[in-house]
Amino acid sequence: MVREAPLAMAAGLSRAAALRWARQSIDRLDARRLLQHVTGCSAADLLAYAEVPLSDEAVHAFKALVARRQQGEPVAYLTGVAGFYGDLLQVSPAVLVPRPETEALVRWALTVLDGCPAPRVADLGTGSGAIGLALAGARPDAVVLAVDVSPEALAVATRNRDRLTRHNVTLHCASWFEGTPAEPAFDLVVSNPPYINAADPHLAGDGVRFEPKVALTDGGDGLSAYTAIVAQAMPRLKPGGWLLVEHGHDQAESVAARWRAAGLVNVESRQDLSGNPRMTAGQKPGADRGA
Ligand code: GLN
Repeated sequence: MVREAPLAMAAGLSRAAALRWARQSIDRLDARRLLQHVTGCSAADLLAYAEVPLSDEAVHAFKALVARRQQGEPVAYLTGVAGFYGDLLQVSPAVLVPRPETEALVRWALTVLDGCPAPRVADLGTGSGAIGLALAGARPDAVVLAVDVSPEALAVATRNRDRLTRHNVTLHCASWFEGTPAEPAFDLVVSNPPYINAADPHLAGDGVRFEPKVALTDGGDGLSAYTAIVAQAMPRLKPGGWLLVEHGHDQAESVAARWRAAGLVNVESRQDLSGNPRMTAGQKPGADRGA
């Protein structure tokens, strides 16, 4: 069998040839998104005008991005954007790249808010703003407080809020609810906190090792955020309000136990797209509001 020689990357190469070259070392969808970024073309244009030659600058830029992706940098950091719940968000290494699993958390949050007029929502550890901005977009009558402990992350969330003109979102730099009055003001507290065990090899994995540690792990067993969040959320939830979080695939029991111990009722866990229990909700007793 004759082995094909590796494709070479040179000036004058067509878009299609550049993609073939890149696919030798990185995922083909990643390659396509990077080439879209470099050329400013849509995916449809890349297909329709596949034989257009790349300029020297484009070749140079594409090669550099492919090399960085090959080293594990997430595409979203290389292009500076990520899609989430229909929004195009700016992202940087100061924030976690929003995950498709977390869109399921948004969907659940919206069903919880069904029938609740002008809800008050807190998104704790908002990062890029993904969850809070999605809820604010789907529910323009909501008033959303988006909190993050990292000023760099909050700057990204603020830019996203302003670009998406979600004026119903207020941003606040704090650790969870610190500095927010301990009054029962919220109909929903939602969070995708750092939940990975510090010893989990996943932290060194493709893409993940470039993401902010503070957004991924508590430095311990990955459960301390839930202890802190439920303690701080209880006095701030209205009777009938909900606490809803994302968690690790093996943490549903531990999270549910904390919710029950704090006095939340109607505690329920749901699965993500891969069938892992990925999120848990509980309701503060005392008002006649269904799930
Ligand atoms: N789901 C993310 C991952 O597996 C972790 C998100 C988080 O810690 N909040 O990489």
